[in-house]
Amino acid sequence: MFNKKGADSNTYNVDNIEFIKKASHKVGELIEKEYLRQKNNVELIASENYCSEAVLAACGSCLSWKYAEGYPYVRTSGNTGRYYGGTEFVDLLEEYACDKWREVFKTDYHVNVQPHSGSQANFSGYKALLNPGDTILSLTLDNGGHLTHGSSVNFSGKLYDMHFYDVDDRGFIDMEDVRNKAHDIKPKLIMTGASAYSRIIDFEAFAEIANEVGAYFMVDMAHIAGLVAAGEHPSPFGLADIITTTTHKTLRGPRGGLIFSKPEFAKKVDSAVFPYAQGGPLEHVIAGKAVCAEEACSDDYKKYIHQVVVNCKAFADEFLKLGYKIVTGGTDNHLFMLDLSEFNFSGKDLQEKLDENGITLNKNCIPCDKKSPKETSGVRIGTAPMTTRGYVEEDFREVARRIDSIIKAMK
Ligand code: PLP
Repeated sequence: MFNKKGADSNTYNVDNIEFIKKASHKVGELIEKEYLRQKNNVELIASENYCSEAVLAACGSCLSWKYAEGYPYVRTSGNTGRYYGGTEFVDLLEEYACDKWREVFKTDYHVNVQPHSGSQANFSGYKALLNPGDTILSLTLDNGGHLTHGSSVNFSGKLYDMHFYDVDDRGFIDMEDVRNKAHDIKPKLIMTGASAYSRIIDFEAFAEIANEVGAYFMVDMAHIAGLVAAGEHPSPFGLADIITTTTHKTLRGPRGGLIFSKPEFAKKVDSAVFPYAQGGPLEHVIAGKAVCAEEACSDDYKKYIHQVVVNCKAFADEFLKLGYKIVTGGTDNHLFMLDLSEFNFSGKDLQEKLDENGITLNKNCIPCDKKSPKETSGVRIGTAPMTTRGYVEEDFREVARRIDSIIKAMK
């Protein structure tokens, strides 16, 4: 890994790249270029992070060679539920990963560690509770939701009858609107969670509303899972029927997904992952997820997440001091949305200009955006990756001032 100034702390990745170059010069060269881009740039993409080299090594291990369709659960069923021989070690590994993830979130929920991604976790989560055509009440993409929360171009918008709750004038989730629409529509499932929402989500209020109308309650905590694990965001455990997450954002693990469920939905969740949505599990990634879970149980990780949140507040505060508008006026978590609607350039223009200046972030729609998702009137800014590299408040304040001077030169 490299530190905040891009200096290597050891040479693990570099050695690996030389090894790959011997097999394919082209691939090795492109990985090297990407490695240098990541090392030299200021990474502000809110959904990214740098996992540890132990996680990377587990993902690059011999487990990549193993087929293990099915589930282990040796302890609970007494038998391996796999469709292949030679699974005695991956069985133990997968059960260990499940135990560790329950420890991270201090829960007795069932956990399935096999989803290849967050989208697949959501696909299987819906499948476990719903039939095609059933009604879901959710948050739209431009208000901060994810594609899998009902976008018309995604399976969710095509398979289910989607309805959406709104954010209020300031950009906060409007709980009155959630309640009114839930009573009107009587959805089979209420979904919450977001990709671009900077405030605490009131899981208790959502659960109460779901209860009032007899709906299932599902939470996609992909972005904030690290904050939930570290106690920096209220937990949905004990409230939601199904909870999904990715492992590669604030959790700082390998690219992948997890599904947690109340025990009564365990069988439905498992069969919605395998054999419904997926074939063989990626045991090498499950090993990476297990290492990540151990790291997430540590005090160092809790300190890291606290710093992510403190950094984010300082970063947003500096933009406010410089006269910028931020959706909801601030942040409670690891990200915030800069509102560029009063400027004569788009989120896309700013993203490209910052790319030229070694700062990486992404364009993002803001509530009631008049521009298309390809242009946008906002950018999303996150502090998780650079906090991993050692940034503290003053570093982020300095980046805000750099971005401000780049914007001033654009006008
Ligand atoms: N859910 C949320 C809230 C997300 O922000 C994302 C990705 O950014 C996903 C699900 C999907 O994750 P993946 O890209 O692993 O499919």
